[in-house]
Amino acid sequence: MIIRDVRLTPIAFRDPPLLNVTGVHEPYATRCIVEIETATGRVGINETYGDKSTYVDLATIAPALVGLNIYDMAGLAAAVRNSIGGAARSEYEMAPGTLSKTAFARCFAAFEVACLDLQGQLCGRPICDLLGGKYRDAVPYSAYLFFKFGGHRDQPNTVDDEWGEVLTPEALLWEARTMVARHGFRSLKLKAGVLSPEAEVAALRMLHQEFPDHPLRMDPNYGWTVETTVKVAHALEGILEYLEDPAKGLTSSRRIAAAINIPIASNMAVTSFEDLPEVVTANAIRIILSDHHYWGGLRATRELGRICDVWGLGLSMHSNSHLGISLMAMTHVAASIPNLTYDCDTHYPWQVDDVIEGGRLRFENGCIRVPSEPGLGVRLDQAKLKELHENHKNFIREDRDDVAEMRKYQPDWAGTLPRY
Ligand SMILES: [Mg+2]
Repeated sequence: MIIRDVRLTPIAFRDPPLLNVTGVHEPYATRCIVEIETATGRVGINETYGDKSTYVDLATIAPALVGLNIYDMAGLAAAVRNSIGGAARSEYEMAPGTLSKTAFARCFAAFEVACLDLQGQLCGRPICDLLGGKYRDAVPYSAYLFFKFGGHRDQPNTVDDEWGEVLTPEALLWEARTMVARHGFRSLKLKAGVLSPEAEVAALRMLHQEFPDHPLRMDPNYGWTVETTVKVAHALEGILEYLEDPAKGLTSSRRIAAAINIPIASNMAVTSFEDLPEVVTANAIRIILSDHHYWGGLRATRELGRICDVWGLGLSMHSNSHLGISLMAMTHVAASIPNLTYDCDTHYPWQVDDVIEGGRLRFENGCIRVPSEPGLGVRLDQAKLKELHENHKNFIREDRDDVAEMRKYQPDWAGTLPRY
């Protein structure tokens, strides 16, 4: 089954003014939609990062895929390496404040998922079966809570989102209630480092009081010092399930881990297989937040699961602003990893647009059902794709910049870390 065409379509979709330690989300988030078409006209799809450097890399690789068999993953790896270099690095934001990563893993992943979609379509099985089978029928996700502004600055053409302003612990509690009531989430995570640590501790205590059976997490994206982290952790001992990337660097994590009784999770200090030996040796980060988009695809993420199991590391899943194709790929791989036992992160409830047929995916009791349809289980809506591609053409900016966006609200905003 030979590839005859690869299409890349950058898109932009509406995103609310969500706050993090470095700044605020812009009115639109970007992604790139990948379509791989075979000689018989069958199309496999995927969704990946929408930053310019990823797009340039993918566009450089795409011609080398023509003529390749969709089952030939070694051939795909060679095509990626030969096109951009195996160790190619490019500036690219993986999380607020985390830049630069090998391009190979995320480029390979971008095409691997589309090939797996095709393979699944051809053999009539869902992708999770190609990964070894599913260990659960539905994948649980956590409510991703954000402090946020009530509307975007300088963007009169975007509709203000329905959530309004959330800048106090009380408003955050309302946000959590709404998320849980709408989607049934059974875990809650706060994007932290926005209010003072004292206010965020108060918010977490309110959440715990209201949702005593929901595991709680905080992610300040390196926004705290070691001392602040230890204070927060002591204040929330017995309340937090894990603390995510509180302070920068493994040395900081070691000092923190020695002083607190809450496990540290990371999607910033550990972002590739190359990082794992040091993480295992340091024994400070105990939970890896996987993400198939930059760990090298669905099969690589499954291999990560086995490594975590061997070394006694926990495994959960990170997310960026994304649409339904990514959510479905995350669901297949999460279903296929026996030890992915934490509820996964997702930004999906914050989005209103999508590019899939049949409209947006629905959570049931906080879960996405693992599809039994062949391949990914979702198809592209070409009219929506065109519409969001038009958005991208009109939305003039190349890469996500939360710091610059925040300066529209607060001109002296520095966005430097640690903040507290
Ligand atoms: Mg994170």
